[in-house]
Amino acid sequence: MATVNDNYLKLKAGYLFPEIARRVNAFAEANPEAQIIRLGIGDVTEPLPEACRSAMIKAVEEMGDRASFKGYGPEQGYAWLREKIAAHDFQARGCDVDASEIFISDGSKCDCGNILDIFGDDNSIAVTDPVYPVYVDTNVMAGHTGEVNDRGEYAGLTYLPITADNNFTAAIPSQRVDLIYLCFPNNPTGATATKEHLKAWVDYAQANGSIIFFDAAYEAFITDPSLPHSIYEIEGARDCAIEFRSFSKNAGFTGTRCAFTVVPKTLTAKAKDGSEVQLWSLWNRRQSTKFNGVSYIVQRGAEAVYSEAGQAQTKALIDFYMENARIIREQLTAAGIQVYGGTNAPYVWVKTPNGLSSWEFFDKLLHTVHVVGTPGAGFGAAGEGYFRISAFNSRENVNEAMRRITEKFKL
Ligand SMILES: *Cc1c(COP(=O)(O)O)cnc(C)c1O
Repeated sequence: MATVNDNYLKLKAGYLFPEIARRVNAFAEANPEAQIIRLGIGDVTEPLPEACRSAMIKAVEEMGDRASFKGYGPEQGYAWLREKIAAHDFQARGCDVDASEIFISDGSKCDCGNILDIFGDDNSIAVTDPVYPVYVDTNVMAGHTGEVNDRGEYAGLTYLPITADNNFTAAIPSQRVDLIYLCFPNNPTGATATKEHLKAWVDYAQANGSIIFFDAAYEAFITDPSLPHSIYEIEGARDCAIEFRSFSKNAGFTGTRCAFTVVPKTLTAKAKDGSEVQLWSLWNRRQSTKFNGVSYIVQRGAEAVYSEAGQAQTKALIDFYMENARIIREQLTAAGIQVYGGTNAPYVWVKTPNGLSSWEFFDKLLHTVHVVGTPGAGFGAAGEGYFRISAFNSRENVNEAMRRITEKFKL
């Protein structure tokens, strides 16, 4: 009989979101009149910018005309999109990133997982705790870990706790690790990294021959002008970092699908024979072999993000969500709840009051004010005692949820 990849059997059952759904459904059944507001979602809610829609409509029309029809595009993405990204997102911020180092894809989630294809199986790996689960699960699938324990930690991974005690920025490990996943602005904590903090990671990576996987999916939500948007704003990062970006959160492309990964040509890692190999060539080979590019129509939609109208419209979208975040922060604080994040990220990370566990707070919020969030413990053991509230929602829902919490929620 054919065999399976046994590593998949090590994955702990998708617990967090099914368990949330189970508790919400049970409550809704018992309380059919309750108007439940969901502030747990990590998905955008507002429609696509007009500039992106018209660009895609125009692209659809081009596809209907023999003269302008497009078949397979370049696996790496169209040059006109890669050039705009390089100029706007990197060169304008002083980052030395060339268009040829940008690989367009249909999502950062897949890129974060697929990147492991070009790395050896013997690398030591560090993730933060709490963490975006994709980093962990893709390493489990690739056989880079042992079994999971009761706390949800996999043997063989290095977990770097991020809590209020370290301002939600992990301490640089004392031991050597080969691959490090960093996400700033952070999902789920909403924390950001200063240039100094990123510089410490780049120095560490350079000293240890490590590679940083830098997930900047939320960079557009940064409002503090002193904070770096890209790891390439840090000197030396071209020699130790790969950056993941996405149009999902800044332009509402979660259902449209377009993202990109930056692999500098100067980045190398070691082969078994001890030679240094350029990672760009491997990723280029990987993408050319296993990927056939993002739809022409969608790439035209993404290109429109960089037009004058597109810039104004995406900024308005982000401002809208950040105003939600401000309201959430303010109202929860007024209700006597300690909050973090939400000023440079669309997530507010709540310290559960009165020593309640993440799930106890979840139940209390659901039962007393019919508001749903995400228990921090679901993102990792160090997320226990925290709770994520997302700013991705309508203003009406945010206002109503906050009204109920400030008026009715008793600590
Ligand atoms: C939403 C998100 C992404 C983007 O994923 P896509 O596949 O591009 O939609 C990447 N990283 C994190 C941490 C996210 O929350």
